[in-house]
Amino acid sequence: MNYYSEKLIAMAAVREAADLCRAVQHELSVASITKTDRSPVTVADFGSQALICSRLRKAYPSDPIIAEETSAMLRLAENEKDRTGVIYRVRMLRPDADAEEILEWIDYGDHKDQADRFWTLDPIDGTKGFLRGDQYAIALALIDKGEVVVAALACPNLVLSSAPQEKGVVAVAVKGEGTEIYRLSDMEIMGKAEVSSETDPKGVRFSESVESTHTSHSDSKKIADLLGISQHAVRLDSQAKYVVVAAGDAEIYLRMPSKRRYVENIWDHAGGMLIVQEAGGTVTDINGKDLAFKYGYQLLENKGIIVSNGGLHDSILDAVKQTKLTG
Ligand code: AMP
Ligand code: MG
Repeated sequence: MNYYSEKLIAMAAVREAADLCRAVQHELSVASITKTDRSPVTVADFGSQALICSRLRKAYPSDPIIAEETSAMLRLAENEKDRTGVIYRVRMLRPDADAEEILEWIDYGDHKDQADRFWTLDPIDGTKGFLRGDQYAIALALIDKGEVVVAALACPNLVLSSAPQEKGVVAVAVKGEGTEIYRLSDMEIMGKAEVSSETDPKGVRFSESVESTHTSHSDSKKIADLLGISQHAVRLDSQAKYVVVAAGDAEIYLRMPSKRRYVENIWDHAGGMLIVQEAGGTVTDINGKDLAFKYGYQLLENKGIIVSNGGLHDSILDAVKQTKLTG
Protein backbone atom coordinates (compact mmCIF):
# COMPACT_ATOMS: atom_id res chain seq x y z
CA MET A 1 0.00 0.00 0.00
CA ASN A 2 1.34 3.41 -0.96
CA TYR A 3 0.47 6.38 1.28
CA TYR A 4 2.38 9.09 -0.56
CA SER A 5 -0.56 11.42 -1.17
CA GLU A 6 -1.83 10.93 2.42
CA LYS A 7 1.63 11.88 3.68
CA LEU A 8 1.65 15.10 1.63
CA ILE A 9 -1.88 16.06 2.69
CA ALA A 10 -1.05 15.39 6.35
CA MET A 11 2.12 17.51 6.15
CA ALA A 12 0.32 20.42 4.50
CA ALA A 13 -2.54 20.18 7.00
CA VAL A 14 -0.44 20.33 10.18
CA ARG A 15 1.77 23.05 8.72
CA GLU A 16 -1.16 25.32 7.95
CA ALA A 17 -2.69 24.69 11.39
CA ALA A 18 0.67 25.55 12.99
CA ASP A 19 0.49 29.01 11.37
CA LEU A 20 -2.83 29.65 13.09
CA CYS A 21 -1.60 28.28 16.44
CA ARG A 22 1.58 30.36 16.35
CA ALA A 23 -0.36 33.53 15.62
CA VAL A 24 -2.63 32.85 18.61
CA GLN A 25 0.25 31.92 20.94
CA HIS A 26 1.98 35.21 20.07
CA GLU A 27 -0.98 37.22 21.40
CA LEU A 28 -0.29 38.92 24.72
CA SER A 29 -2.68 36.67 26.59
CA VAL A 30 -4.56 33.63 25.33
CA ALA A 31 -8.01 33.06 26.79
CA SER A 32 -9.25 29.53 27.40
CA ILE A 33 -12.59 27.85 28.00
CA THR A 34 -12.75 25.06 30.58
CA LYS A 35 -14.26 21.83 29.24
CA THR A 36 -16.45 19.47 31.28
CA ASP A 37 -13.40 17.32 32.08
CA ARG A 38 -11.86 20.55 33.47
CA SER A 39 -9.19 20.67 30.75
CA PRO A 40 -8.64 23.94 28.87
CA VAL A 41 -9.40 24.62 25.21
CA THR A 42 -8.53 27.75 23.19
CA VAL A 43 -9.42 29.51 19.96
CA ALA A 44 -6.35 27.81 18.46
CA ASP A 45 -7.54 24.27 19.31
CA PHE A 46 -10.83 24.89 17.47
CA GLY A 47 -9.21 26.78 14.58
CA SER A 48 -6.57 24.10 14.05
CA GLN A 49 -9.23 21.37 14.02
CA ALA A 50 -11.40 23.29 11.54
CA LEU A 51 -8.53 23.77 9.09
CA ILE A 52 -7.26 20.20 9.25
CA CYS A 53 -10.69 18.52 9.11
CA SER A 54 -11.81 20.59 6.12
CA ARG A 55 -8.65 19.66 4.22
CA LEU A 56 -8.97 15.95 5.05
CA ARG A 57 -12.66 15.87 4.12
CA LYS A 58 -11.94 17.46 0.77
CA ALA A 59 -9.12 15.04 -0.03
CA TYR A 60 -10.68 11.87 1.44
CA PRO A 61 -14.46 12.36 1.74
CA SER A 62 -15.13 8.85 3.03
CA ASP A 63 -12.44 8.75 5.75
CA PRO A 64 -13.90 9.31 9.26
CA ILE A 65 -11.93 11.61 11.58
CA ILE A 66 -11.61 11.00 15.33
CA ALA A 67 -10.54 14.36 16.75
CA GLU A 68 -10.44 15.83 20.24
CA GLU A 69 -12.78 18.83 19.96
CA THR A 70 -16.41 19.51 18.94
CA SER A 71 -18.12 22.82 18.21
CA ALA A 72 -20.76 22.36 20.98
CA MET A 73 -19.11 24.68 23.54
CA LEU A 74 -18.31 27.27 20.87
CA ARG A 75 -21.97 27.48 19.89
CA LEU A 76 -23.04 28.52 23.42
CA ALA A 77 -24.11 32.16 23.75
CA GLU A 78 -21.65 32.69 26.61
CA ASN A 79 -18.73 31.75 24.32
CA GLU A 80 -19.54 34.19 21.55
CA LYS A 81 -16.20 35.96 21.89
CA ASP A 82 -14.30 32.73 21.36
CA ARG A 83 -16.55 31.73 18.46
CA THR A 84 -15.86 35.05 16.76
CA GLY A 85 -12.15 34.58 17.45
CA VAL A 86 -12.09 31.13 15.82
CA ILE A 87 -13.95 32.38 12.75
CA TYR A 88 -11.62 35.38 12.45
CA ARG A 89 -8.49 33.21 12.74
CA VAL A 90 -9.68 30.58 10.25
CA ARG A 91 -10.77 33.24 7.75
CA MET A 92 -7.25 34.70 7.75
CA LEU A 93 -6.28 31.46 5.98
CA ARG A 94 -9.62 30.62 4.27
CA PRO A 95 -11.17 34.02 3.46
CA ASP A 96 -14.18 32.50 1.67
CA ALA A 97 -15.42 30.35 4.55
CA ASP A 98 -18.64 31.37 6.30
CA ALA A 99 -19.17 31.09 10.04
CA GLU A 100 -21.49 28.06 10.07
CA GLU A 101 -19.26 26.23 7.62
CA ILE A 102 -16.27 26.66 9.94
CA LEU A 103 -18.21 25.18 12.88
CA GLU A 104 -19.25 22.27 10.64
CA TRP A 105 -15.61 21.66 9.72
CA ILE A 106 -14.80 21.24 13.43
CA ASP A 107 -17.55 18.61 13.71
CA TYR A 108 -16.20 16.53 10.82
CA GLY A 109 -13.91 15.32 13.63
CA ASP A 110 -16.71 14.02 15.88
CA HIS A 111 -16.40 10.36 14.87
CA LYS A 112 -15.79 8.11 17.90
CA ASP A 113 -15.96 4.51 16.73
CA GLN A 114 -13.48 2.19 15.11
CA ALA A 115 -13.47 2.17 11.30
CA ASP A 116 -11.53 0.26 8.67
CA ARG A 117 -9.55 3.37 7.81
CA PHE A 118 -9.69 6.67 9.71
CA TRP A 119 -7.68 9.72 10.78
CA THR A 120 -7.10 10.80 14.34
CA LEU A 121 -6.29 14.38 15.27
CA ASP A 122 -5.25 16.34 18.32
CA PRO A 123 -5.48 19.91 17.00
CA ILE A 124 -3.35 21.12 19.91
CA ASP A 125 -1.75 18.42 21.97
CA GLY A 126 -0.42 19.91 25.20
CA THR A 127 -2.89 22.81 25.48
CA LYS A 128 -1.53 23.51 28.97
CA GLY A 129 1.95 23.95 27.48
CA PHE A 130 0.49 26.13 24.74
CA LEU A 131 -1.08 28.40 27.38
CA ARG A 132 2.21 28.62 29.28
CA GLY A 133 4.06 29.59 26.07
CA ASP A 134 5.88 26.23 26.08
CA GLN A 135 5.79 23.11 23.92
CA TYR A 136 2.71 21.86 22.08
CA ALA A 137 2.09 19.78 18.96
CA ILE A 138 -0.44 19.49 16.17
CA ALA A 139 -0.81 15.73 15.92
CA LEU A 140 -2.34 13.87 12.98
CA ALA A 141 -2.26 10.16 12.11
CA LEU A 142 -3.90 7.79 9.66
CA ILE A 143 -4.96 4.36 10.92
CA ASP A 144 -5.63 1.61 8.39
CA LYS A 145 -6.92 -1.79 9.57
CA GLY A 146 -5.82 -1.10 13.13
CA GLU A 147 -2.31 -0.01 12.15
CA VAL A 148 -0.91 3.52 12.28
CA VAL A 149 0.44 4.04 8.75
CA VAL A 150 1.02 7.81 8.42
CA ALA A 151 1.94 10.36 11.09
CA ALA A 152 2.60 14.10 11.00
CA LEU A 153 3.47 16.06 14.14
CA ALA A 154 4.10 19.80 13.95
CA CYS A 155 6.00 21.12 16.99
CA PRO A 156 6.23 24.90 16.54
CA ASN A 157 8.44 25.56 19.59
CA LEU A 158 10.70 22.53 19.45
CA VAL A 159 14.45 22.91 18.90
CA LEU A 160 16.46 19.75 18.21
CA SER A 161 20.14 19.48 19.07
CA SER A 162 21.01 18.61 15.46
CA ALA A 163 19.88 22.12 14.39
CA PRO A 164 20.06 24.40 17.44
CA GLN A 165 19.28 27.54 15.44
CA GLU A 166 15.97 26.19 14.05
CA LYS A 167 12.82 26.62 16.15
CA GLY A 168 9.86 24.63 14.89
CA VAL A 169 9.91 21.20 13.27
CA VAL A 170 7.50 18.79 11.61
CA ALA A 171 8.15 15.08 12.13
CA VAL A 172 6.63 12.83 9.48
CA ALA A 173 6.53 9.03 9.28
CA VAL A 174 5.09 6.46 6.91
CA LYS A 175 4.97 2.82 8.00
CA GLY A 176 8.02 1.00 6.64
CA GLU A 177 9.61 4.17 5.23
CA GLY A 178 11.26 5.81 8.23
CA THR A 179 10.81 9.15 9.95
CA GLU A 180 11.76 12.49 8.43
CA ILE A 181 12.20 15.86 10.13
CA TYR A 182 11.25 19.05 8.27
CA ARG A 183 11.84 22.67 9.19
CA LEU A 184 8.42 24.16 9.97
CA SER A 185 9.19 27.59 8.50
CA ASP A 186 9.61 26.41 4.89
CA MET A 187 9.14 22.62 5.01
CA GLU A 188 12.71 22.01 3.86
CA ILE A 189 13.81 18.52 4.86
CA MET A 190 16.37 18.53 7.70
CA GLY A 191 17.05 14.80 7.61
CA LYS A 192 15.98 11.35 8.73
CA ALA A 193 15.35 10.78 12.40
CA GLU A 194 17.25 8.03 14.17
CA VAL A 195 17.05 7.08 17.83
CA SER A 196 20.11 7.28 20.06
CA SER A 197 22.07 4.04 20.61
CA GLU A 198 23.02 5.02 24.18
CA THR A 199 22.36 2.34 26.78
CA ASP A 200 24.86 3.32 29.49
CA PRO A 201 22.71 4.69 32.36
CA LYS A 202 25.19 7.55 32.88
CA GLY A 203 24.42 8.87 29.41
CA VAL A 204 20.68 8.14 29.37
CA ARG A 205 18.28 11.09 29.23
CA PHE A 206 14.61 10.60 29.99
CA SER A 207 11.65 12.84 29.38
CA GLU A 208 8.17 13.04 30.82
CA SER A 209 5.13 15.31 30.96
CA VAL A 210 5.29 18.64 32.79
CA GLU A 211 1.88 17.94 34.33
CA SER A 212 1.94 15.69 37.40
CA THR A 213 -1.77 14.99 36.80
CA HIS A 214 -0.89 13.37 33.43
CA THR A 215 1.97 11.20 34.66
CA SER A 216 3.32 10.10 38.02
CA HIS A 217 6.62 11.92 38.46
CA SER A 218 7.34 9.92 41.61
CA ASP A 219 6.94 6.55 39.84
CA SER A 220 9.18 7.55 36.95
CA LYS A 221 11.78 8.75 39.48
CA LYS A 222 11.72 5.32 41.14
CA ILE A 223 12.18 3.62 37.75
CA ALA A 224 15.00 5.98 36.73
CA ASP A 225 16.72 5.29 40.08
CA LEU A 226 16.42 1.52 39.57
CA LEU A 227 17.96 1.86 36.11
CA GLY A 228 20.83 3.91 37.57
CA ILE A 229 19.93 7.02 35.55
CA SER A 230 21.57 10.03 37.15
CA GLN A 231 20.33 12.87 34.92
CA HIS A 232 17.19 14.78 35.83
CA ALA A 233 14.03 14.19 33.80
CA VAL A 234 13.51 16.64 30.97
CA ARG A 235 9.89 17.74 31.26
CA LEU A 236 7.99 18.90 28.22
CA ASP A 237 4.39 19.02 27.09
CA SER A 238 2.76 17.15 24.22
CA GLN A 239 3.94 14.53 21.74
CA ALA A 240 7.07 16.64 21.27
CA LYS A 241 8.44 14.03 23.73
CA TYR A 242 8.10 11.33 21.05
CA VAL A 243 9.91 13.54 18.54
CA VAL A 244 12.73 14.14 21.02
CA VAL A 245 13.23 10.36 21.41
CA ALA A 246 12.92 9.75 17.64
CA ALA A 247 15.56 12.41 16.94
CA GLY A 248 18.00 10.95 19.50
CA ASP A 249 17.80 13.86 21.95
CA ALA A 250 16.51 11.56 24.72
CA GLU A 251 16.52 7.79 25.15
CA ILE A 252 13.32 7.35 27.16
CA TYR A 253 9.84 8.85 27.55
CA LEU A 254 7.84 7.52 30.51
CA ARG A 255 4.12 8.07 31.03
CA MET A 256 3.30 6.38 34.32
CA PRO A 257 -0.42 6.38 35.22
CA SER A 258 -1.28 9.02 37.79
CA LYS A 259 -4.92 7.96 38.09
CA ARG A 260 -5.91 4.33 38.25
CA ARG A 261 -8.89 4.62 35.92
CA TYR A 262 -7.53 6.97 33.25
CA VAL A 263 -7.67 5.56 29.71
CA GLU A 264 -5.40 7.21 27.12
CA ASN A 265 -6.94 8.74 23.97
CA ILE A 266 -5.61 7.58 20.61
CA TRP A 267 -4.92 11.12 19.35
CA ASP A 268 -2.37 11.59 22.15
CA HIS A 269 -0.22 8.67 20.95
CA ALA A 270 -0.93 7.39 17.41
CA GLY A 271 1.31 9.88 15.59
CA GLY A 272 4.07 9.86 18.18
CA MET A 273 4.21 6.07 18.27
CA LEU A 274 4.85 5.69 14.52
CA ILE A 275 7.39 8.51 14.56
CA VAL A 276 9.45 6.72 17.22
CA GLN A 277 9.04 3.23 15.72
CA GLU A 278 10.10 4.38 12.27
CA ALA A 279 13.17 6.04 13.80
CA GLY A 280 14.18 2.66 15.27
CA GLY A 281 12.63 2.97 18.73
CA THR A 282 10.07 0.94 20.69
CA VAL A 283 6.67 1.95 22.13
CA THR A 284 4.56 -0.22 24.46
CA ASP A 285 2.37 0.28 27.50
CA ILE A 286 3.82 -0.18 30.99
CA ASN A 287 3.14 -3.95 30.83
CA GLY A 288 5.03 -4.33 27.55
CA LYS A 289 1.86 -4.61 25.43
CA ASP A 290 1.66 -3.02 21.98
CA LEU A 291 -0.70 -0.06 21.77
CA ALA A 292 -4.00 -1.35 20.29
CA PHE A 293 -5.69 1.06 17.89
CA LYS A 294 -8.80 -1.05 17.43
CA TYR A 295 -11.21 0.27 20.06
CA GLY A 296 -12.33 3.58 18.59
CA TYR A 297 -11.04 6.71 20.29
CA GLN A 298 -9.43 5.12 23.33
CA LEU A 299 -6.49 2.83 24.09
CA LEU A 300 -8.85 0.58 26.07
CA GLU A 301 -6.42 -2.32 26.40
CA ASN A 302 -3.39 -0.30 27.48
CA LYS A 303 -2.13 1.33 30.64
CA GLY A 304 0.48 4.08 30.61
CA ILE A 305 3.14 4.38 27.92
CA ILE A 306 6.84 3.45 27.71
CA VAL A 307 8.87 4.86 24.84
CA SER A 308 12.54 4.04 24.33
CA ASN A 309 15.38 3.83 21.86
CA GLY A 310 14.76 0.06 21.77
CA GLY A 311 18.01 -1.05 23.41
CA LEU A 312 16.75 0.01 26.84
CA HIS A 313 13.19 -1.26 26.54
CA ASP A 314 13.45 -4.63 28.31
CA SER A 315 15.35 -3.19 31.25
CA ILE A 316 12.74 -0.42 31.64
CA LEU A 317 9.92 -3.00 31.63
CA ASP A 318 11.83 -5.03 34.27
CA ALA A 319 12.24 -1.90 36.40
CA VAL A 320 8.50 -1.17 36.11
CA LYS A 321 7.72 -4.72 37.31
CA GLN A 322 9.94 -4.21 40.35
CA THR A 323 8.29 -0.89 41.26
CA LYS A 324 5.26 -0.44 43.49
CA LEU A 325 3.26 1.96 41.35
CA THR A 326 1.05 4.69 42.76
CA GLY A 327 -1.27 5.10 39.73
P1 AMP B 1 1.20 15.92 28.06
O1 AMP B 1 1.40 17.17 27.31
O2 AMP B 1 2.18 14.85 27.74
O3 AMP B 1 1.05 16.17 29.54
O4 AMP B 1 -0.16 15.31 27.55
C1 AMP B 1 -1.27 16.06 27.28
C2 AMP B 1 -2.45 15.14 27.15
O5 AMP B 1 -2.66 14.46 28.38
C3 AMP B 1 -3.75 15.83 26.88
O6 AMP B 1 -3.99 15.88 25.50
C4 AMP B 1 -4.78 14.97 27.59
O7 AMP B 1 -5.60 14.28 26.67
C5 AMP B 1 -3.97 13.96 28.36
N1 AMP B 1 -4.42 13.72 29.74
C6 AMP B 1 -5.39 14.34 30.43
N2 AMP B 1 -5.53 13.78 31.66
C7 AMP B 1 -4.63 12.77 31.74
C8 AMP B 1 -4.32 11.79 32.75
N3 AMP B 1 -4.94 11.76 33.94
N4 AMP B 1 -3.35 10.89 32.47
C9 AMP B 1 -2.71 10.91 31.28
N5 AMP B 1 -2.97 11.81 30.29
C10 AMP B 1 -3.92 12.72 30.51
MG1 MG C 1 -3.66 15.88 23.65
